[in-house]
Amino acid sequence: MLLTHASQLLTLQGEAPRRSAQMRELSIISDGALLIRAGKIVAAGTTDEVARHELAAGADEIDCRRKVVLPGFVDSHTHPVFIAPRLVDFEKRIEGASYEEIAAAGGGIRSSIQGVREASVERLAEHVLDALREMASYGTTTVEAKSGYGLSFESEMKSLQAIRLAAERWPGTVVPTLLGAHLVPTEFRSDPDAYVDIVCEQMIAAVAKQKLAEYVDVFCERGAFTTEQSARILHAAVEHGLKTRVHVCQLTPADLQPLLEFHPASFDHMDYVSDADLRLLVKSDTVATLLPAANYFLGLDRFPPARKLIEAGVAVALATDYNPGTSPTTSMAFVLSAACTHMKMSPAEAITSATINGACALGLQQTKGSLEPGKDADVAIFATQDYRELAYWFGVNRCEKVLIGGREQ
Ligand SMILES: [Zn+2]
Repeated sequence: MLLTHASQLLTLQGEAPRRSAQMRELSIISDGALLIRAGKIVAAGTTDEVARHELAAGADEIDCRRKVVLPGFVDSHTHPVFIAPRLVDFEKRIEGASYEEIAAAGGGIRSSIQGVREASVERLAEHVLDALREMASYGTTTVEAKSGYGLSFESEMKSLQAIRLAAERWPGTVVPTLLGAHLVPTEFRSDPDAYVDIVCEQMIAAVAKQKLAEYVDVFCERGAFTTEQSARILHAAVEHGLKTRVHVCQLTPADLQPLLEFHPASFDHMDYVSDADLRLLVKSDTVATLLPAANYFLGLDRFPPARKLIEAGVAVALATDYNPGTSPTTSMAFVLSAACTHMKMSPAEAITSATINGACALGLQQTKGSLEPGKDADVAIFATQDYRELAYWFGVNRCEKVLIGGREQ
């Protein structure tokens, strides 16, 4: 397959992850072309250059005149295993209700947990698959997917099996994550450590044995899990050969040093981060994944300090945080818009964060996140002529075509 005459081909080739000023460099080729064979990129360059390639003759051509062509988005943080939208939360929050009042009215995370515990694996898989297909229609080709609304051994396993079933039916790449430590379930409120035992000794062991997840995540936050409990969970993950990532600094600051010892691929949210931790992060490979759609949806004034992180040299990624409680969106384009308008990221920085740096947050920078020879041919084609339009238009979908593994979707 040969894509030709793109107004702008954003290759994102070069160093990964991109930091500081590098984040503004999208490695753009005007009148760009892409040659694809057997699901991989063979050549990227100007239409003149690529058309001369020996494999270009006879290739199926897609004319990309007046289009922007870029790597498919990598959405490196989603919670797709749930059944119903949380409309009680939505309406009650607008009215100014407290967390407790929302829970008393039948809303809150408990309602999602009940839905997942009662649902069949097949029904959950259908919901996940619907979300993956919707994401692809917005230009996303790689998705990290967490469990975390089961909060019992059986329901967490069921959630990961649902992710696996959905992933088998979707051509894109799905990276499964165990988030058994999303919250302490009600039945363990009086003894949270007993629940941490179940996560460490039962869930992580079973997940590793059945290869149901690549990552273990934990919500390290006041009201969820302490740093000590989080470290125990991450330790168990590493012992079982699983990789780690952490929800942290969303509502309160946390000491990142004890968590960094487990070399997490990513720290996610990061609304509150200390200067001391900023210096530690710059020296690490851990990516800071910012989730501004959640701040938007909750109507918060405060957003993650993207400028501070970027200027310090931290590798920053963006993701949707797709979930029923705080971020019901599958649109990475919306996240780009929120990142630019509320966190003062430039459109180029936002695109870098949603592609190559997102791939780094999942350890997939060798195959995803840029358009370079040898990489997977996961490509998004937008009906725009300038890359800045990707973050400019909001609430509309300008993604016209998506290729996954070189196949048109
Ligand atoms: Zn999350």
